[in-house]
Amino acid sequence: MHTEVRDRIAETQDRMLDFLGDLVAAESVSGREGPAQAVVHDRLAGHDLEIDTWEPSIERLRDHPGFFETVSYEEYGYEGRENLVATRAGSGDGRSLTLSGHVDVVNPNPVADWEYDPWAATVTDGRVYGRGALDMKGGIAAFIHAFEVLEELDVDLAGDLHLQTTIEEESGGTGGVLSALERGYRPDAAIIAEPFGIPNVGIAGAGVSYFRITVPGEAAHTAFKYAGENALGHATRVYQALEALDERRRERIEYQPAVNQDPRAEGSVTNLSVSVMEAGDWISKVPGEAVLTGRVGWPPGETSEEVRAEIAETVAAVAEEDPWLSEHPPEIEWFGWDADPHEVDTEEAIVRLATEHAEAVTGGQTEYVGGLGGLDERFYQLYYDIPAISLGPRGANAHGADEHVEIDSLVETAQAIALTAMDWCGVAEEN
Ligand SMILES: [Zn+2]
Repeated sequence: MHTEVRDRIAETQDRMLDFLGDLVAAESVSGREGPAQAVVHDRLAGHDLEIDTWEPSIERLRDHPGFFETVSYEEYGYEGRENLVATRAGSGDGRSLTLSGHVDVVNPNPVADWEYDPWAATVTDGRVYGRGALDMKGGIAAFIHAFEVLEELDVDLAGDLHLQTTIEEESGGTGGVLSALERGYRPDAAIIAEPFGIPNVGIAGAGVSYFRITVPGEAAHTAFKYAGENALGHATRVYQALEALDERRRERIEYQPAVNQDPRAEGSVTNLSVSVMEAGDWISKVPGEAVLTGRVGWPPGETSEEVRAEIAETVAAVAEEDPWLSEHPPEIEWFGWDADPHEVDTEEAIVRLATEHAEAVTGGQTEYVGGLGGLDERFYQLYYDIPAISLGPRGANAHGADEHVEIDSLVETAQAIALTAMDWCGVAEEN
């Protein structure tokens, strides 16, 4: 049966690519995921599945320890932003499995940098180009293709299989995967088809926090500069202290799965970046306030609280040394992303099965990767003790121009997921 499933997935790959084309054409930047969810719904409505769609409820999520208000919620709210779970009830008492993917994508700007149309899936040289082709509509097309082939070959899974597509992963996923878990979708294991590059298996995610530091000054006419206090100058010292902290952290913190994921991360598996610096609004005016906005990300090993405390101490130390700032201390505000890192034990049965099949279908060797970015997988692992791994295609330029996915790796992803689902959920005897 395994061989038949594998072969059929490869033979019918054009179906998967057509579906991926529809998904990429359905513009679904975080906050406006509706068009992509409609494409998924249409596709799954033709099967014997129980389909559940819902808008997340911020009130129901707010008290959850994994909750934070995402920037996409702040901008768009949750109205009209549905999650979707399609369930195929198992025929026996096998283990249940969720196959999950986020339908939201990052905006393609600046579009002028693209050689290909970001909203049309262009197939060339064994690749599909387009926004989301890699991250992660490709993975969604792969696991839905896997399911369709299992159906077509009458493979009767003993455990429940959930096909899940969620919103706002790119801004933190509290209204997406966390909302699905809170709705009751708590399988025995989950596979999220994030593009970690099969045969590699993603076992870890980074902690992520966003911050905004407001540095006070005093505005004055520049003709009377002595009467003002230049916030830009003070903010520069805060910035330099944060850069120095980043360097100390990078020297101190090591994490091998992150380096396995990207060798360039050697010595930089944690990073603290000021991304936006705003100060001043008129040439003949001493800037009365400066605002630094940034992100800190770090691999498993520290909690969000510990990392935030270290940043707060660093800013406080700058303020203490300065007569003005000690009287007018900078204020730190944490907003948006607030995620702890997670790691799945590689001895977990789901990891071993995924590894076995990923290696078999690719002929390659699995490396365990992750820990550079924040992932939806953490919700399963940290709050429900459900092992959740990333198994998805290879490609390049996620979030950038000319994002693309390798077609061979989509086929391999669908194969490895189908075979893992068969072994995890069990297949009824008559097959
Ligand atoms: Zn993704």
